[in-house]
Amino acid sequence: MEDTVKAELLDALRPIVKKKDLLEGAPLSAYTTLGFGGPAEVLCEVTSAEQLLEIMRAATRLGVPVNVLGNGSNLLVRDGGWPGLTLHLGDGFAEVSPPVPLPDGRFAITAQAGAPLTRLANVAADAALTGLEFAAGIPGTVGGGVVMNAGAYGGELADVVDSVTCATLAGEVRHYGSAEMAFGYRRSRLSAPGAAPEIVLAATVALRPGDEETIRVTMREFNARRREKQPLTLPCCGSTFKRPPGRFAGTLIEECGLKGYRVGGASVSAQHAGFLVNDQEGTAADYLKLIEDVRRMVFDKTGVWLEPEVRIVGVDAAPPGI
Ligand SMILES: Cc1cc2nc3c(=O)[nH]c(=O)nc-3n(C[C@H](O)[C@H](O)[C@H](O)COP(=O)(O)OP(=O)(O)OC[C@H]3O[C@@H](n4cnc5c(N)ncnc54)[C@H](O)[C@@H]3O)c2cc1C
Repeated sequence: MEDTVKAELLDALRPIVKKKDLLEGAPLSAYTTLGFGGPAEVLCEVTSAEQLLEIMRAATRLGVPVNVLGNGSNLLVRDGGWPGLTLHLGDGFAEVSPPVPLPDGRFAITAQAGAPLTRLANVAADAALTGLEFAAGIPGTVGGGVVMNAGAYGGELADVVDSVTCATLAGEVRHYGSAEMAFGYRRSRLSAPGAAPEIVLAATVALRPGDEETIRVTMREFNARRREKQPLTLPCCGSTFKRPPGRFAGTLIEECGLKGYRVGGASVSAQHAGFLVNDQEGTAADYLKLIEDVRRMVFDKTGVWLEPEVRIVGVDAAPPGI
């Protein structure tokens, strides 16, 4: 951002955002589960939908690109950071409504975008509502989950999302029915690469009544499978690559003998080859090189070209001396 634009942006944001929630140069490494990435030129902790709409109007008027963070559990920020405005939807944007009965026998729960998916799954389980068991161990927010159509163990958000409320870049509110969200495998109408096209404010899921004990047992089983198979104690972003049609990325990478393959501080997990981990305080440059090496070697041996599932944003670090 040019200095004059940044000064205008800060002037526009100060009346809207509390001083403690408006940061310059905050390290994005602290906001992502991969634990690396450069600074956010300007970062706002967003606490309400009204505030977010005002912020969007200011950013759009000044032509400032906006990046949105949920829990940063599927986000790779390059080492030069995000040269624009970063919005973090976290604790202050995390309400989950009690279930409301629908005419067809299902129950609707509405969650704000910053609510953890695990909390939404637990609210559903407490009310003996089935359909969100798969989400019990996914470490993202409702907003990030909707954008990615997060899923596991045969379920995905597309199965239960009834509607989504978004803010446009112009600061207007739009409502989308599930069909309009264009959900596909780990994608939605909002998952185009680069700056956020629209920002999820809230999502409503519609769930069927079930048996609370069965729901809890299923959630515990899914979490036990994660603990057994996934390197959950190391900085990572879950599965780094999407599943190629009819195959598993982790199996292909393992069959190519790449478990433990390393670039700098990043390596292919020895526990689960689908997880590329930042196990030795690596940089985004290390991780990106690791991604490219793995893709090339898997392609050379199997003919399958792996597509990253992790969202890659930001700019590279300036070379030394610049
Ligand atoms: C240990 C581990 C296990 C995982 N297991 C799974 C799994 O089983 N299944 C699965 O699908 N994923 C899994 N993931 C990946 C990740 O948790 C999901 O993709 C999750 O949905 C991302 O949510 P988030 O809030 O962290 O989004 P972020 O990483 O913060 O953002 C992801 C993308 O969504 C955008 N975004 C975030 N919030 C909003 C918003 N409100 N409006 C518009 N855009 C937004 C971001 O700009 C970015 O492009 C795992 C990750 C980890 C670290």
